[in-house]
Amino acid sequence: MQKRTISRSQYDTHKPKELRRLYEPLGVLHELTMKGTTKPRSIFSTSAQGISIMQRRRNFVDAIAFLGAYGKGCEIAVAVERQPDGLIVRVAGTGDIDGTVVPFVNSLLGMLSATMKLGKDEIKGDNKERILLCLSDFALDFAQEKVFSHYMKLLHHIAPVCLADMTAGLNEARRDSLDFMTWFQENFYKNGAPLPREHMKLLAKECFKARQSRLINHLREFTYQGHEHVTYFEKFYKQLRKLSLTIDMTSQLLESTIFLRQDFTNDLAAESIPSSPSLPIPLLPRKLTIEGIANRMFSDPSKRDDFPQKLQQTAPPKLIQTLAQYSQEVHTEVHPELLVINYFDTLSDGGFIDERDRYIGCTKPSCYLCHLFILYHPAGYSMISSSSKICLNWRLPDISVKEYNAMARAENQKSILRQLINTIRIQLEEKVNNEWILQTHRTESETEWTLPIDDGTLNYSPQPPSPESTPSYPITSTELRIPELDISPDETSSVDKDPDQDAEDVILFKGRCRF
Ligand SMILES: [Zn+2]
Repeated sequence: MQKRTISRSQYDTHKPKELRRLYEPLGVLHELTMKGTTKPRSIFSTSAQGISIMQRRRNFVDAIAFLGAYGKGCEIAVAVERQPDGLIVRVAGTGDIDGTVVPFVNSLLGMLSATMKLGKDEIKGDNKERILLCLSDFALDFAQEKVFSHYMKLLHHIAPVCLADMTAGLNEARRDSLDFMTWFQENFYKNGAPLPREHMKLLAKECFKARQSRLINHLREFTYQGHEHVTYFEKFYKQLRKLSLTIDMTSQLLESTIFLRQDFTNDLAAESIPSSPSLPIPLLPRKLTIEGIANRMFSDPSKRDDFPQKLQQTAPPKLIQTLAQYSQEVHTEVHPELLVINYFDTLSDGGFIDERDRYIGCTKPSCYLCHLFILYHPAGYSMISSSSKICLNWRLPDISVKEYNAMARAENQKSILRQLINTIRIQLEEKVNNEWILQTHRTESETEWTLPIDDGTLNYSPQPPSPESTPSYPITSTELRIPELDISPDETSSVDKDPDQDAEDVILFKGRCRF
């Protein structure tokens, strides 16, 4: 992907110290969450209420965002912009957007526009099937690499375990197992060897048919609780679905286009939103100590003492070394959905196709920081699904002083940054507290069960502590909830006594307005 070069005079920086107040606790939270055993909770998008025109427009951009992401390393976000002379499908993301994604989306839009010129009666029955076949063939050719990587993962990492279980007859429904395994052998190998890339289109169609015939539903019989390889069978089912998802999404695209016929009477074309340059994460190795991080997080002296102690006890080994390594290796970029938001923020006129639903279609659910950014953004963008994943390569959108309304947008961004810092700090504090309580309980219970009893006296368990001293039940999930905001003054001012020191640190985090 080509990176844009950004001159320093056009863009400026946030204060490095302010950025560290976000990235330091974020880095620690990232490590603690990775260590967690439970999966982050998914946050679903706000509902557009039924199959309304709003929902159909969402389905349309969701389908484009899925179909346009051609392979590994390509994630895109899509929104439709209304302009006086027509509609523009705006595409932002990672990968080759201008050279690969936008030409594909334009071809797809051209095929849909041609279809919409047909009479309603001509888009029915067998004719509609032929149109769908033509569109899905085109989309599958484009998705070959993506489908191939799903196929290889299934073939090498998932299928061997599941097929062995099925062969061993671990399930009573042996007849169904045989049918499934025969189908698998016939379609997933050619003369006993793995399929080449060019067979992916056929394979996707076979998987689509198998899903409709409910052949693969048989796998669900192995996903009962207690089965040794339950997660493998769940993955097997999901992976088979992924192989044919391009056909589902093409169908979703066609259905929504037919419903949105009115939108297609305008000119419709795809255009890109430029991607962001890659910049180092604003962490300074020499500032990375547990005490230093705590000092910048809390103004309350008791918390500054308490937090490092608890973190020392619960942190994964080599936490600080890992953060120091991140400071050298991690680069940040503006995620696709925030590139789209930033683009729409710069428009002096025009805007979303429907300003009541400022929705962005994304290839994947948003990360946690993107989710929070949209939540805290004053322009009221529609919430999109989120995986709650914590990404260190995240950064705020770049604001150029030459763009429309730059200073007001920069003020908004400063407020969002403050809210992000506050939220991440609360999440981390809660996480460390919960880990510490869990660990303390574990230690206490181990001590309780290993008390020596060879002195002939009875070994009484200690009395349960009084309610006042009982710590609240720890939240073991790594799910990240949105806390109430606590906008407090800068808590670090009394600790980092040498603000000028940062000027020597030269953390280049350009791409922002100076506030
Ligand atoms: Zn993100």
